[in-house]
Amino acid sequence: MESEFRRLPSVDRLISEERIRRLQELYPRASLVELIRQYLEHARLAIAAGNPCPSVDEIVESICTQVYALENPSLRPIINASGVILHTNLGRAPLSEEAISAMNGVANGYCNLEFDLDSGTRGSRYVHIEPILCQLTGAEAALVVNNNASAVLLALTALAKKREVIVSRGQAVEIGGGFRIPDVMRQSGAKLVEVGTTNCTYVTDYAQAINPRTAALMRVHSSNFRLMGFTHLVTLDELVTLGRQYDLPVFDDLGSGCFLDTTKFGLDAEPMVQQSIATGAGLVFFSGDKLMGGPQAGIIVGKKQFVDKLKKHPLTRAARIDKIRLAGLVATLIHYLKGEAVSKLPVWRMISAPLAEIDQRARRWAQPLQGLARVVEGETMIGGGSLPGGTLPTRLVAIGGEGKSTAQALSERLRCQKMPVVGRISGNMLLLDPRSVLPEEDEEVLQALQDATANLNPTR
Ligand SMILES: *Cc1c(COP(=O)(O)O)cnc(C)c1O
Repeated sequence: MESEFRRLPSVDRLISEERIRRLQELYPRASLVELIRQYLEHARLAIAAGNPCPSVDEIVESICTQVYALENPSLRPIINASGVILHTNLGRAPLSEEAISAMNGVANGYCNLEFDLDSGTRGSRYVHIEPILCQLTGAEAALVVNNNASAVLLALTALAKKREVIVSRGQAVEIGGGFRIPDVMRQSGAKLVEVGTTNCTYVTDYAQAINPRTAALMRVHSSNFRLMGFTHLVTLDELVTLGRQYDLPVFDDLGSGCFLDTTKFGLDAEPMVQQSIATGAGLVFFSGDKLMGGPQAGIIVGKKQFVDKLKKHPLTRAARIDKIRLAGLVATLIHYLKGEAVSKLPVWRMISAPLAEIDQRARRWAQPLQGLARVVEGETMIGGGSLPGGTLPTRLVAIGGEGKSTAQALSERLRCQKMPVVGRISGNMLLLDPRSVLPEEDEEVLQALQDATANLNPTR
């Protein structure tokens, strides 16, 4: 083992290696020395554990890989041709130009985040968004936090800790990534009382569960699944009426914050935030980056008496929103106030894109692929815990042939392009959906398709 330690090269020896010297164009010498030191420390531990000493080549290779990785951060933009408009794994909603420019504006320097310019004294970050949310939804008060899960956690902690919250068994859902809404809710210290059965819950089920420890009645959007066949759900209206009888608030977790009538786009009706407020919900929770089409956030609107309590709770500080996303949210909400959400917000532009336009774009995408691709009918999913099972008609570029290998090979190549293009595999085919891609990204898609198919053997 001693001899293995002695074989380990010195920092000086490594820093003078040709490939490492060249790295100094990318990375300062002092930082390289630090990387090498760390590497050698790990290597000494590995040798002590009985491993052989790495060769100089191996060490140089590892240092180079580390520096290149720093030069090319692993988080980067991609093109979402998967046909799921709100894909949590792909970063959910793309933002409007106005939202991006507002975010840039406050990122560039200082801003009056918590500073009242009129009086020159301390202000609140929430004043920039609360009136807009109230105007848009008809609510008395509003608050914004990091994301919707933290919004629900905050509200139940502040208003239902050590008490009971009644929720329908059919709404105790898992939202993806192994996270379950009831688990998040339980973290608040509130006791969840599940009533009804998986497919049927009646208002009497809630009524029978009410007792002196009850703090609220809760509705949760079933998000990513749809009950079919013999079902019964309690309406928000019924819950609010029941709540009034017992002086209990109704909390409504809408998941996706929708302000527009989805039936106008050929979709099922998605509950709208302003409807929940008009119906009398005490608090309504939703995400900023689902159907609302903004940056990640958890938005809470509702009665002032409850929102005021939340504003004072320590968890609000722990889950607070930063200035950059706050600026993006405000710009996004203004699109709704101005009635221009459908033309400005990427999510709604995708939902409202006419089929004929999608068809044309699909044909353009298929061209560089020649014999490999054809345009077929298909469905775009909305995703993001909204409109479970709801799809829009689309045209897909279907690529592949006999066996799986062509589709798999092309899918891999497309993911490795400078601008990666992510599609979906179905059977033997790679499917690319232009509906979840903005028309201004088409040139990049075409470039990626050209590069990825260059010398791909179509008979494979
Ligand atoms: C998506 C969703 C959440 C979680 O929202 P995040 O913004 O991802 O934290 C909570 N509840 C429902 C019903 C959802 O659909």
